Amino acid sequence: MGPLQIKDILQTAPDNQSVVVKGWVRTKRESKNAIFIALNDGSTIHNIQAVAEPGQFSAELLLTVTTGACLKITGQLIASQGSGQTVEVKISDIEVYGTADPEQYPLQPKKHSLEFLREIAHLRPRTNTFGAILRIRHALAFAVHQYFNEKGFFYLHTPVITASDAEGAGEMFRVTTLDLNNLPRTDDGAINFKEDFFGREANLTVSGQLEGELGAMALSKIYTFGPTFRAENSNTTRHLAEFWMIEPEMAFFELKDNMDLAEDFVKKVITYALVNCKDDLSFLQNRLAEEEKNKPQNERSLPLLEKLAFVVDNPFERLTYTEAIDILLKSKPHKEGKFQFPVGWGIDLSSEHERYLVEKHFKKPVILTNYPREIKSFYMKLDDDGKTVRAMDVLFPGIGEIIGGSQREENYDKLLGRVKEIGIDPENLWWYLETRKFGTAPHSGFGLGFERLVQFVTGMGNIRDVIPFPRYPKSAEF
Ligand code: ATP
Ligand code: MN
Repeated sequence: MGPLQIKDILQTAPDNQSVVVKGWVRTKRESKNAIFIALNDGSTIHNIQAVAEPGQFSAELLLTVTTGACLKITGQLIASQGSGQTVEVKISDIEVYGTADPEQYPLQPKKHSLEFLREIAHLRPRTNTFGAILRIRHALAFAVHQYFNEKGFFYLHTPVITASDAEGAGEMFRVTTLDLNNLPRTDDGAINFKEDFFGREANLTVSGQLEGELGAMALSKIYTFGPTFRAENSNTTRHLAEFWMIEPEMAFFELKDNMDLAEDFVKKVITYALVNCKDDLSFLQNRLAEEEKNKPQNERSLPLLEKLAFVVDNPFERLTYTEAIDILLKSKPHKEGKFQFPVGWGIDLSSEHERYLVEKHFKKPVILTNYPREIKSFYMKLDDDGKTVRAMDVLFPGIGEIIGGSQREENYDKLLGRVKEIGIDPENLWWYLETRKFGTAPHSGFGLGFERLVQFVTGMGNIRDVIPFPRYPKSAEF
């Protein structure tokens, strides 16, 4: 089944056995006594070193062995003569699959800025940094499925195209097959969506939650893990127009159970990465340290592995929104007028407030609960005081909100009241409302932005660097 991967060859005991390695040249170095080729196939951050004798190959062939070229090397696996690796390949034959003209190939063995690499997203997976990120991203995705499978959840595929405009209207991407240059009109001049593909307006989903709830009302515990689309025109380091969201939804879970699950879940998937991605995490840790070496000591962040271990080993701080507002009102930056946005009960916390709580006050992940009903979604369960809802947001250092969730309103009349209150036509949500009419149950769920998790685990500052081909305003090139 294909050639051995470099990851496995590097673990093999050398015994002069013949091996074939295939991969891309990272560097070629020529000395008086030998020619060294470092080859990488993406299976690991480590390269395999292949060695030839001077004069063994024609100058013409060697000229084509440049950074980025793809080779098949045949040879013998031997104990490495040099330091830095235990095994190496003594080359007997080189086949060049594909050259990479050094005049044109943009990835040279030197440091490239992340901004530049974003412009060559088709090639950046071949860098050490992006190789590490993509392998960690894979490991985290695998850990997500493994976690839920072990906990008795079912993976529910919720639709990508939706016709319910209940959530996030305005920030949705429209889906249509209508001819934009020749739109069908009704008698009163409006666009006639009856003639559109679905016979009605349709959009890309902003969340699988509503359908997820339908699943939980039958299978008890489900999760979704799929692409999510938001046309929010925000050029932040934490927002993408296309991102992946993990949304568990559980019958018979109250808010406390929901918090317990969220905390355990995040800790377990981070632990999986710590155990299985050691080399890639160490590489990224060194990369970050390098980036921060010019900062004063007290402004440097914890080494990446320590930061992750800290999150895994310590309980998250849990408090209510009201308690958080009190802390903010008493805080130094508030008293000294250092916050850009005002603080007061009822405000939607801005990221400077969230970061103060997490990074300055508690210095650990925080779960905030019981937000004012006015700033949260209509489906969240009303608290007894009628003022707050059973919401929970999980806030992470450096990221801010990583999870948003709640206990859902299971009472038909209360939910219908909220739907009308915020101006949604109940007709559009008849199927959602019916779950509260037929066998309703207390239930809860949350949404975790997968890229924000990957950002946290890799320590990357910009969300555009933790997804292979990011989508953001004015950018969908690759
Ligand atoms: P924020 O306030 O940060 O914009 P939100 O409150 O709109 O997020 P939710 O609707 O609660 O987000 O979505 C659940 C989770 O999805 C968030 O906690 C976050 O991790 C992630 N998320 C939301 N919007 C984006 C986005 N545009 N890009 C990447 N992840 C996102
Ligand atoms: Mn949210």
